[in-house]
Amino acid sequence: MTQILEIDPANRLARVEPGVTNQQLQLALAEHGFFWPPDPSSAAVCTLGGNLAYNSAGPRAVKYGTVRENTLGLRAVTGLGEEIRAGVMTTKGVVGYDLTRLLIGSEGTLAIITEAILKLTPLPEAKRTLRATYRDIHAAAAAVSAIMAQPITPCALEFMDGASIEMVRDFSDLQLDDGIGALLMIEVDGPEYGLDRSTAAVEQAARVEGVVDIYRAKTKEEVAALWKTRKALSPALRTVAPKKINEDVVVPVSRIPMLISGLEQLAEQYQIRIVNFGHAGNGNIHVNLLVNPDDPDEMQRAAECLSDAFDLVLKLDGTLSGEHGVGLEKRDFVNREIDPVTLRLMHDIRRQFDPNNILNPGKGLPESD
Ligand SMILES: Cc1cc2nc3c(=O)[nH]c(=O)nc-3n(C[C@H](O)[C@H](O)[C@H](O)COP(=O)(O)OP(=O)(O)OC[C@H]3O[C@@H](n4cnc5c(N)ncnc54)[C@H](O)[C@@H]3O)c2cc1C
Repeated sequence: MTQILEIDPANRLARVEPGVTNQQLQLALAEHGFFWPPDPSSAAVCTLGGNLAYNSAGPRAVKYGTVRENTLGLRAVTGLGEEIRAGVMTTKGVVGYDLTRLLIGSEGTLAIITEAILKLTPLPEAKRTLRATYRDIHAAAAAVSAIMAQPITPCALEFMDGASIEMVRDFSDLQLDDGIGALLMIEVDGPEYGLDRSTAAVEQAARVEGVVDIYRAKTKEEVAALWKTRKALSPALRTVAPKKINEDVVVPVSRIPMLISGLEQLAEQYQIRIVNFGHAGNGNIHVNLLVNPDDPDEMQRAAECLSDAFDLVLKLDGTLSGEHGVGLEKRDFVNREIDPVTLRLMHDIRRQFDPNNILNPGKGLPESD
């Protein structure tokens, strides 16, 4: 199922099969002057089926939303082999329950998605890319809050802590002074007319106490080099540590400083190296615990550290996963976030879609009684 069935610029939609990769779709849409906002870093290899099943997103979500905000309808097959159609071909519609948003992010546990109607957005005319560096992580977090509190929404607001910066130094030409404690990658897009003014407003908000430097890329090559730094992170982590426990917690943006302080305390308490980066504009922080799987004592400390980190996130009104989902790994923590009554309803819904429990059995929700 690898076909783009239709691209309809007048109605700003595309009809696609789930085996198309995110990148294939973006390339085809660009020829018509459009894009589909979800942009996971894995775009070259991940499929639209995976994107829909996990509500995957990337840097652009801060301005343009996730898969849920950018999908109009779906065709899918339930665990009973029955085909269903959810949603609409229009940008408004309120008939029936919103099964489209229910199936998106359900991790393949309710139905197999066989076709999707995606909502398209015109490509912005122009973009400006900034790199802001800070003395420490707290200054960068304050800048994120200041940027989000003013009217211009950046189309990317990515965050790296000092440990992440050190890690990618070996992989790319960062041209950064030593001792930088945190970095923000900021992009602002829109019509060329007025864009410099919008960018200046964002830049001004980013100039909080503790800022070291704000650099605006002047050429396409400089923009590519800055993004290379951010995208080198995942592979770099894999090379540096024998194993990373990679979480993707989310907290309200203004509470990022509290999250980071709390994680620093946990790292100290459990003697675990923690590296943080992520989609700061959404409060979505990838918390990476770097561990050696051959060291049982360290693995035990990491498990306890992770458990406390999840409690911290929930105390800050956050959620345990922003885009990577639950699967098996986080399944047993779900009942810390979702109350028993809501969880029971979720199990009931699941049984309606898949009474024989054949769709990703055991994943996503803790075992029911
Ligand atoms: C280097 C790297 C970077 C990444 N960066 C990001 C990022 O920035 N943002 C992000 O959100 N994620 C990211 N991811 C995670 C991952 O790429 C995404 O979750 C992606 O959407 C998964 O797509 P896939 O095709 O690989 O799905 P798969 O791994 O094949 O499947 C994922 C799940 O979806 C289910 N599924 C697949 N197709 C369907 C279907 N048609 N119907 C129902 N269920 C289905 C599968 O059963 C499985 O449970 C990254 C991963 C890597 C390796």
